[in-house]
Amino acid sequence: MTQHDCLFCKIVSGDVPATVVRESARTLAFRDINPQAPTHVLVIPKEHHPTAAELAASDGDLLAEIVREAHEVAVDDGVAGTGYRVVFNTGPGAGQTVFHVHAHVLGGRGLNWPPG
Ligand code: 5GP
Repeated sequence: MTQHDCLFCKIVSGDVPATVVRESARTLAFRDINPQAPTHVLVIPKEHHPTAAELAASDGDLLAEIVREAHEVAVDDGVAGTGYRVVFNTGPGAGQTVFHVHAHVLGGRGLNWPPG
């Protein structure tokens, strides 16, 4: 299912261009337009689900596939060995701006903890 006013659904359909780095039957991974690290890739389900919590409740296998794909992105970009971060911003207070669930895959530089 897609949502007509959703930016990431438009990336899945090809109506909005993106630099795609990986694709599976149910997921798509593309570079963030405003990268915060040398590797900054977003992994999304092709189906529209607003948040990670809602996807966990409705299709845990698909959420697990997103995490597996995030690891493959890190391997492909050569950052899996040194370490990378996978972030699901969930809700406006945590910085979620696009309500189509996405894993941020960040790597290629030192990452501080706690995050800002
Ligand atoms: P959020 O803030 O919801 O966790 O993350 C949304 C991410 O989507 C941001 O990092 C932002 O830079 C990225 N983004 C917003 N619009 C576009 C776009 O049109 N194309 C791509 N590739 N990334 C986008």
